[in-house]
Amino acid sequence: MQTVTALEAMRAHARAARERGMRTALVPTMGALHAGHLSLVAAARGRAGPVTLSVFVNPLQFGPGEDFARYPRDLDGDARLAAGAGVDVLWAPATEEMYPAAPAVTVAPGPMGDVLEGAVRPGHFGGVLTVVLKLFSVAQPDVAVFGRKDFQQAALVRRMVADFDLPVEIVVAPTVRERDGLALSSRNRYLDAAARPEAATLARALARGVELFRRGERDGAAIAAAARGVLEAAPALAVDYAACVDPDDLAPREVARPDSVLAVAARLGGTRLIDNVPLGAGLEGDVRVAG
Ligand code: AMP
Repeated sequence: MQTVTALEAMRAHARAARERGMRTALVPTMGALHAGHLSLVAAARGRAGPVTLSVFVNPLQFGPGEDFARYPRDLDGDARLAAGAGVDVLWAPATEEMYPAAPAVTVAPGPMGDVLEGAVRPGHFGGVLTVVLKLFSVAQPDVAVFGRKDFQQAALVRRMVADFDLPVEIVVAPTVRERDGLALSSRNRYLDAAARPEAATLARALARGVELFRRGERDGAAIAAAARGVLEAAPALAVDYAACVDPDDLAPREVARPDSVLAVAARLGGTRLIDNVPLGAGLEGDVRVAG
């Protein structure tokens, strides 16, 4: 595995791969890698030749008062995990090179960026799409792999790719979960021993919604309300939202369908947790690892 920082070095890798006629993949991350990120690498390796994994904690997508300064950073640990997973190029650009000055031109996500996470984190998806467009522009991947864990992000990236005619195939991989259902996240490192068991409540809320759907409930609001009820029964959690939405445009689904996504977000102490599940696939459609 080669580690590169400079944008020009990344461009050179992309050029060399193209000249050799190879199909390349990019897995964008903010580092503090876990088995969820590595599952995206595995999905990328199945679809392309050289796989680049980027590690960049993007200041543009953090709001004031969010955890940008304390976000976990561990490039040495990331390099070991990435090499073990078969990453070819680890790309860790410097903030000053990505943003020599605050960008004047940024991507506007439109209404899909204003709901769910966007309603709680104004400006977040503008920051996400701007950095993803820059990463695509430098690394020039044929395929880019994202996690369903952040399904709103994946839906917005897909939409940006369609609206801008970007020549990249977007692949969305299932969520990797611990045994009790907690979706792996770099932010789980913030959870202390007392909070950790509570965090699995989000997965239990999703399971409740799936159970109702399987029993024949088709009222999206009722399914979301049932999930919210599970979250609200946990005193340590402060609920941000529980919603049943369309997977493509993120609009609320009055009539739930198998591809409808049940999405939840809650705060546990100082940690924000998000999770979601397609109602038809249920949590069985995801991957479990030993925590
Ligand atoms: P992050 O480093 O948190 O920005 O995430 C980088 C990529 O990894 C995004 O596409 C996420 O959706 C994906 N990801 C994060 N957590 C998981 C997980 N538990 N399972 C699968 N993919 C994940």
